[in-house]
Amino acid sequence: MELDAKIYVAGHKGMVGSAVVRALKEKGYTRIVWRDSKELDLTQQSEVVDFFEKEQPDYVFLAAAKVGGIEANNSLRAEFLYENLMIQNNVIHQSYKYKVKKLLFFASSCIFPKYAPQPLKEDYLLTGALEPTNEPYAIAKIAGIKLCENYNRQYGCNFISVMPSNLYGPNDNYDLKHSHVLPALLRKFHEAKQGNLARVEVWGSGRPKREFLHVDDLAQASLHLMETYAGNVFVNIGTGEDLSIKALAELIQNIVGYKGEMIWNTDKPDGTPRKLLDVSLIHSLGWSHEMDLEEGIERVYREKFIDV
Ligand code: GDP
Repeated sequence: MELDAKIYVAGHKGMVGSAVVRALKEKGYTRIVWRDSKELDLTQQSEVVDFFEKEQPDYVFLAAAKVGGIEANNSLRAEFLYENLMIQNNVIHQSYKYKVKKLLFFASSCIFPKYAPQPLKEDYLLTGALEPTNEPYAIAKIAGIKLCENYNRQYGCNFISVMPSNLYGPNDNYDLKHSHVLPALLRKFHEAKQGNLARVEVWGSGRPKREFLHVDDLAQASLHLMETYAGNVFVNIGTGEDLSIKALAELIQNIVGYKGEMIWNTDKPDGTPRKLLDVSLIHSLGWSHEMDLEEGIERVYREKFIDV
């Protein structure tokens, strides 16, 4: 990507999009464009056409999506499927129409089959049934990957997809009902410490395992792939290391310094037992993560709750 190329970051206010904007600015890119959702509703085809007609971007990072944790995915099922399909259909199709040189689509590790062997290799996609709690979101993301792949095959586009593991970092969602586990637990332990509460409720059995990646690492990997990689195979982006939800909860409890007790609410779903990414492809392409999990959680805890 030339430093003066026009780059559209869709979803610039979200955790992923804002990290991509930070990384682009840091590298010296000067013509980054975006729109707030009030100015441009990406689910509306005509608005997306008007935007591409006006801006004619050279490169696109498609980070706009409806996202959330296990409860949001499980309850807002129709919204997750409909809105994500509409957003990606509109942005990917107009990127083809307006001859975007390259597009990068952000998928998610929840698209792999629930009981796929671990670690998850890229080619395990579509080899088994999905985890029911996030099936609508996964179906939309799989459709997005297939759009990129088949626009490349039929029209000769250069659209790539990446598969991040569970993300955390600045601009995460801390709403207790709809967020992911890491921000939810940071907030719960912090508030319990502040309020001298005796107990904190944690969901599920604590046995599922998850892999966590700081979003600044994801942004660096995405820029690296945008500059060096072309292909129909999507690329896993993660640390290649996971831990149980119980171990994560204890780590966060220690970082926050909360001395009370943890109560496990097993009425809440566990979700996928494990989704550890195989990161050999991204390593062979010359990138590996930098942020250690403990250091990353300490950093977001400070940024969100201490240095405010
Ligand atoms: P997932 O990775 O799509 O399953 O989404 P989450 O990050 O929401 O949940 C991961 C795991 O953490 C699940 O097993 C949850 O039951 C568990 N978990 C434990 N406590 C919490 C919590 O307070 N919020 C959320 N979202 N998940 C929790």
